[in-house]
Amino acid sequence: MTTLMDRKRPRKPAPTKDEPLAREFWKHKSLEDMSTREWEALCDGCGKCCVYTLEDADTGEIYRTDVACKLFDTTTCQCSNYAERKKIVKDCVKLTPKKVPKLDWLPPTCAYRLVGDGKDLFWWHPLVSGDPNTVHTANASAQNKTRPEGRLKTPGLMKRIIQWPEPLEKPPKKRRRT
Ligand code: SF4
Ligand code: SF4
Repeated sequence: MTTLMDRKRPRKPAPTKDEPLAREFWKHKSLEDMSTREWEALCDGCGKCCVYTLEDADTGEIYRTDVACKLFDTTTCQCSNYAERKKIVKDCVKLTPKKVPKLDWLPPTCAYRLVGDGKDLFWWHPLVSGDPNTVHTANASAQNKTRPEGRLKTPGLMKRIIQWPEPLEKPPKKRRRT
């Protein structure tokens, strides 16, 4: 299999507080029409775009690994040096409305991909749930599921191809205290 590696980045800095978020703005606005704050809030924090993917150059099929970019902190599920990331990881990709439709390595659950395709966000998206942790409790993120890239080259990466778990379709039922 001929492979092509792609690194990407999702994690954006915390939104500024001076732009109000319109209610369910993602249902009414295209990616192009979103304000900076809306665009930034749209990232669900799943971190899956900081994980290596391999693309079969013959078929275009995407294979996902559990190997993350060297700056990805699997515990916090965030880039450990967002401000300097482009200096350290040259091929870290900054998402834009124009790029999103072309980036087929973005996970199907990526909020930018969903909205770009005219779909709604899942229950676990922080904008829907109101809780930044639901992306993790829904098993929709890369939190604690990756290993650092280290010195792995493409052949090593191919051994790390995995099937990522499907996120929970509904919120888990709360346990009752006995
Ligand atoms: S540099 Fe940071 S944002 Fe970019 S892919 Fe790596 S961990 Fe993700
Ligand atoms: S929502 Fe998209 S851009 Fe944000 S972390 Fe997840 S995959 Fe990356």
